[in-house]
Amino acid sequence: MTTGTMTSRADFPGMLTPEGQPWHYLDTAATAQKPQAVIDTVARKLGADYATVHRGVYGRSAEMTLGFEAARRTVADFVNADENEIVFTRGATEAINLVAQSWGSSQLEVGDRILLSELEHHSNIVPWQLLRDRKGIEIDVCPITDDGLIDLDAAEAMLTPRHKLVAFAHVSNVLGSVLDVERAVSLAHGVGAKILLDGCQAAPRIALDMKAMDCDFYVFSAHKVYGPTGIGALWAKADILDAMPPWQGGGAMIDRVTFERTTYAPAPARFEAGTPAIVEAVGFASAIDYVTGIGIERIEAHERALTRTAREELGRFNSLRLFGPEEAAGIVSFEIDGVHPHDLGTILDEESVAIRAGHHCAQPLMDRLGVPATARASFGIYNDETDIAALVRGIERTLRIFG
Ligand code: PMP
Repeated sequence: MTTGTMTSRADFPGMLTPEGQPWHYLDTAATAQKPQAVIDTVARKLGADYATVHRGVYGRSAEMTLGFEAARRTVADFVNADENEIVFTRGATEAINLVAQSWGSSQLEVGDRILLSELEHHSNIVPWQLLRDRKGIEIDVCPITDDGLIDLDAAEAMLTPRHKLVAFAHVSNVLGSVLDVERAVSLAHGVGAKILLDGCQAAPRIALDMKAMDCDFYVFSAHKVYGPTGIGALWAKADILDAMPPWQGGGAMIDRVTFERTTYAPAPARFEAGTPAIVEAVGFASAIDYVTGIGIERIEAHERALTRTAREELGRFNSLRLFGPEEAAGIVSFEIDGVHPHDLGTILDEESVAIRAGHHCAQPLMDRLGVPATARASFGIYNDETDIAALVRGIERTLRIFG
């Protein structure tokens, strides 16, 4: 299996330094660079094609509405779902907050429990804490194994009929560990709980099939799938979505408004108050078209191979400690004895290598790993071995500087 570049870097203007040299961008887990096709779509939709959706009687608005709803179909097809099950949100964070506030507030009662895991991103922790504090529910935390997988044996032992929701990351944004979805779904459903999967890091690199996966909620952000910021998706099973009350009020989410009483539009419009992120939605679809044009299975294989190579290369440094499982999806976290990740990140930046240094919005995971921060390299479709070689050179230089 080759780990060579699978797509032309030239498609990605963001992969160059201001001087026009290759930029070794290894922070795709934070946000992905955008292909020219997406940039062109967004520019066209903001420019010559621009108009509002849903209300206009004039031709351009009708065209924009068609494009916006076609984007919803593209997102739905991407995850093998029905389009009325896709709610556009600002991103994964907003999608989880939507579920917590709408489903959680209406369905959960004092004494009900939610199971999270030790490796969750803050956006899959804090919305549930806000809900806990409002509703008097309890949060349990499933541990991870030493190699960084959510410990599903522990989850099995912890789950009770009081658990109404399991909310796990499909892929960890720090460790690249991939959840055994089938088992997690069956454990949750086994006690009658719903299961939400945070697909932020899975959507860009793992083929998704909502019908086969059989979870209840799935969330992801466009900007990590090579699309624009400001848009993402909540997928939920139609019957669950239909039963959920609105969470924000305003235009576009109503059926009929009087001062006495308002009735609401069916899902997904019920959850999309206000003028939507029209341009971003169409840009999202354009990014999905780009990704599916390459093939998500090829992307996954490419990034897994790069991750394996990176782990091998980084594993040669005696003072370097790798976190996470051997088989990881596109993400490697590590620390170097005596070098703070921020110092490493700064020196690497001088070498045109961009990594992430910090807690990656996963402070409880940092506590579990016993570190304040890690260095993280993450891969995208535009990366190849030259980026890993540049990372290795940068680490060698850092080690020389630190003696
Ligand atoms: N969950 C995971 C696993 C993530 O990696 C991220 C983004 N770092 C989020 C949630 C939040 O996504 P967003 O900021 O796009 O809403």
